[in-house]
Amino acid sequence: LRSLYSSVGSLNYVSAGWRNARVDLEHYLELLGRQSEVQEAAEPVRLATRLSSGGAAQVVLKNVAFGYSPKRQILHDISLNAPAGTSVAIVGPTGSGKSTLGRLLTRAYDPTSGEILIDGHDLRDITLHDLREVIGVVPQDTTLFNDSIGRNISYGDLTASEAAMKAAAASAQIDTFIESLPEGYETIVGERGLKLSGGEKQRVAIARVILKDPRILLLDEATSALDTRTEAAIQNELDALSRARTTFTVAHRLSTVQNADQIVVLEEGRIVERGTHVDLLQNDGVYARMWSVQAGESVIQA
Ligand code: ADP
Repeated sequence: LRSLYSSVGSLNYVSAGWRNARVDLEHYLELLGRQSEVQEAAEPVRLATRLSSGGAAQVVLKNVAFGYSPKRQILHDISLNAPAGTSVAIVGPTGSGKSTLGRLLTRAYDPTSGEILIDGHDLRDITLHDLREVIGVVPQDTTLFNDSIGRNISYGDLTASEAAMKAAAASAQIDTFIESLPEGYETIVGERGLKLSGGEKQRVAIARVILKDPRILLLDEATSALDTRTEAAIQNELDALSRARTTFTVAHRLSTVQNADQIVVLEEGRIVERGTHVDLLQNDGVYARMWSVQAGESVIQA
């Protein structure tokens, strides 16, 4: 009985540690928020942020233009409509403005003209908190905090229970890996801890998004190639995540965009073509040429 008591005691201790670390992380995020480039509206509107409570969201861009400096416009007159629950792939050569467009969607910057609307609300009118919650991002390279891998996952939803965090890890198929580590979910990762591979980091990002349950997804495809098997497995997780959600994919390769409802082709910051994969191949334009170049490359690799 005594040993039962002491193990219950140590469980309490563990969960207290869990809560404290969560407070630290919240504090850190507050600090990050204060350095933001954009301002919150005087009377911002609230938005349902979770897919489970709000359903998918419609996203519309109207005549969006943007430059990092006034001297050089990067994006010109970008208009597009992503109906709720559909997928948009953004493709184009390096430097055409794909990542910049992704940054505008998360409101890292505001357009210099034009507007971006979620369910009819301009991003500038939505509370910064709700905007951060409504869009889940799987970035090219996931930032890991020098903290336990469990808490790195719960960064997706700071109010989630430990059980919910572990369920998310299981859905992202990183649970077996974590449980094989001597310290399990308490293993410290990041700069000063265990280094994770590109594929493992992406799974952490996916687990975060599963916890967060956002209505909109932004997938910034990794430029550095994962090995083919890892890539195929991760693609399956991403497909599952995006199924019911309005999803934007910044695609650096074309292999992942074939099933998108809408492919938008950028060149020098302008939309030069749009349509489905089949439409664009029939057009025999920029996309069709990119496709044949890439098909050629994969034949050479094979
Ligand atoms: P892509 O993702 O299609 O490769 P980017 O959106 O990264 O293209 O870049 C579009 C253009 O914006 C490029 O000319 C790039 O040099 C410029 N650019 C990207 N990020 C910044 C930045 N933070 N500050 C200034 N210019 C930038």
